[in-house]
Amino acid sequence: MQDNYNKDPKRNQMELLSDKDKIGKDRPWKEKKVKTLVLAESYERLGMKKAYRVRDCGSFLEFKRYTNGTLKLNGANFCKVRLCPMCSWRRELKIFAQTSKVMDKALEMRDYRFIFLTLTCKNVEGVELSGTLDKLFHAFKKLSERKVFKNAVKGWFRALEVTHNLDEDSKDYDTYHPHFHIIIMVNKSYFNKPELYISQERWTNLWKDSLQVEYTPIVDVRAFKTRTKKQVSKSIAETAKYTVKDNDYILDGNEEMTDSAVMVLDKALANRRLVAFGGQLKRIHKELNLDDAEDGNLINTGIDEELREDVDYVLEHYQWHIGYNQYFKK
Ligand SMILES: [Zn+2]
Repeated sequence: MQDNYNKDPKRNQMELLSDKDKIGKDRPWKEKKVKTLVLAESYERLGMKKAYRVRDCGSFLEFKRYTNGTLKLNGANFCKVRLCPMCSWRRELKIFAQTSKVMDKALEMRDYRFIFLTLTCKNVEGVELSGTLDKLFHAFKKLSERKVFKNAVKGWFRALEVTHNLDEDSKDYDTYHPHFHIIIMVNKSYFNKPELYISQERWTNLWKDSLQVEYTPIVDVRAFKTRTKKQVSKSIAETAKYTVKDNDYILDGNEEMTDSAVMVLDKALANRRLVAFGGQLKRIHKELNLDDAEDGNLINTGIDEELREDVDYVLEHYQWHIGYNQYFKK
């Protein structure tokens, strides 16, 4: 398809989309758009109607071009399908921006400390994923309602991640690994007060108990140390990543496994709150009047806000060309 474009005698008159980030790296519009087409094919094979929405996702983009040359997305037709690679990327930017803002605000208020907590369970087969997610969400709710948790934790952020094992040599090949990445906010005194402090062993037992399993689940705990507040919030926001990496279900040249993974994940992730804030962080999120990180507007992710709105701009429109697999300026 790329060749068709290179052979087109008019190609020099066609302007391709070039949208670069602050460090000069191309934003992944084209790469994500190509993946939406692969995902749409899978949905179509599975007989699912959302194939049409996904295929069309992001085919039209409107940007503001500022006088300094930078582009800012101003309009687009996003499909908001959960597994859509384009929408997942936009959602990730949004969650990153929101988490940064909420953490910055918390640190302005008080000299809080942060802890990273990873709560896991055993790998499961595709058919068990949905039921396992029910258990994980229920267990986290139970954990967060425990007295020991409430006494120690001033706020939390929780993000679900599901990885799909694609290593053919692994005994866990084609199983799924759902887990929570959690940021816990505590007072500075937490580390010095034995009645508040929760050791790794204690976290493990609390999680095992909440999850109600016979085995000992893997629980990772690490305190967060950085020098400046800005660094802290940025690094924390890094944990707000994809729920599922698109490479875990859009498998080049393997339609059968792509379809089975799409089916499993589409069903298991439907109607779930994949990221959530709790305690003080939930309060700050509300105070800052941020829209829903998952289902809110995917055009303005809140990440380019340093661009002043009173700076002059012109509107530019780009259209996805299916045969050429490129965005062209209209
Ligand atoms: Zn989409």
